[in-house]
Amino acid sequence: MSKSFCKGNSSAVVFGEMICEKLRVSIVEAVCNKTAIDLAGEMKCSYPAFSENRLNLEKHLLKSLAEKEDFDAFITYIRNPKKQVEAFIKARVNTYMSGESKDAALDILRKNVDDINKLVSQALFDATNQVTTQNGDIYMWVKEFSRFLKDKLTLGTISCQNFGDINNFDFLKEEIEKGLISIKEEMNRLSLDKIKEFRLRPDQILIDQLCDCCWETCPFCRAVCTNTVKDHVIKDKIDHSCPFHRSKAVNGVHYRNTTEISINFCTTEVASDRSFYPDGVSEELFLYKDYRKAGPRFANWSITPDEYTSKYWIWFVCKFKKRLEEHYGLSFTGRGEIPPKWTEFTKEEAIQSLDEMYRTR
Ligand SMILES: [Zn+2]
Ligand SMILES: [Zn+2]
Repeated sequence: MSKSFCKGNSSAVVFGEMICEKLRVSIVEAVCNKTAIDLAGEMKCSYPAFSENRLNLEKHLLKSLAEKEDFDAFITYIRNPKKQVEAFIKARVNTYMSGESKDAALDILRKNVDDINKLVSQALFDATNQVTTQNGDIYMWVKEFSRFLKDKLTLGTISCQNFGDINNFDFLKEEIEKGLISIKEEMNRLSLDKIKEFRLRPDQILIDQLCDCCWETCPFCRAVCTNTVKDHVIKDKIDHSCPFHRSKAVNGVHYRNTTEISINFCTTEVASDRSFYPDGVSEELFLYKDYRKAGPRFANWSITPDEYTSKYWIWFVCKFKKRLEEHYGLSFTGRGEIPPKWTEFTKEEAIQSLDEMYRTR
């Protein structure tokens, strides 16, 4: 009897170590994933840029681009808006986690560590209690223990094959509790950087939530379609559209065979009797009014004729006149001359106009 008792207990020591190792790995992962979700949720509540939809996010991005006056970031945004929006989200999350709200983020992490520790202790108590009162074996213990944890932790397969002789479950519980102490110590040293190693990252959660929409750009001015459904043209038979277009100078559109940049807004063009060549090489001229006939890039865009010109993009063109000329190898001369009243807007007015623009359009 005493021999089997000792043997059972040494089995319990080995088995307890195995369980603790599995717990250690899965607790770190569970805490990091839960913290990533919590942080993304926290940022959605406290950051106006993340609190609504992509349209609102874009407004905040445009504000930040104007504040920084970073031409290269503007160009990335114009050529590849999704890339720039993702970079904006990543930068904000980084600032949140490493700077301004580091303590709040750490509090969330610590709370999740506490919660999971309590849960494991409870599961350990309940499983052991159940097996002792029902005279169960190690198979039953594993089944119960896993069942208590299954919503929060994935322990993987636990093989009981060589542990059938474990019969003192209170002893097993104590062994695991000893192991849990060192797990707790390790978890208390966990840093926010650890989160970056796992599948769920707060920036990626926000990107998935906010960027899963249409990213097509206007064939004239590269304004981004604001539809929230990715394949809306095919799925819902709805055209691409956008409430605010830009001066075509933003996209480097120019008059054929000249370096004269075209500064007109595409919404103004489609209200006019003017015409355009759809691309650099085509000989065919199309009326702006009939832009949809100009090819597949144009066919699914709904551009409403409108005299509205956005102060923001006017400010951008004036502010970066020289840089745009260099970037596109064009010039604001001849038909591309900038009207004097365009230069009147200040950066503050441009930024303010975004609120108006996004509220009313
Ligand atoms: Zn446009
Ligand atoms: Zn679209």
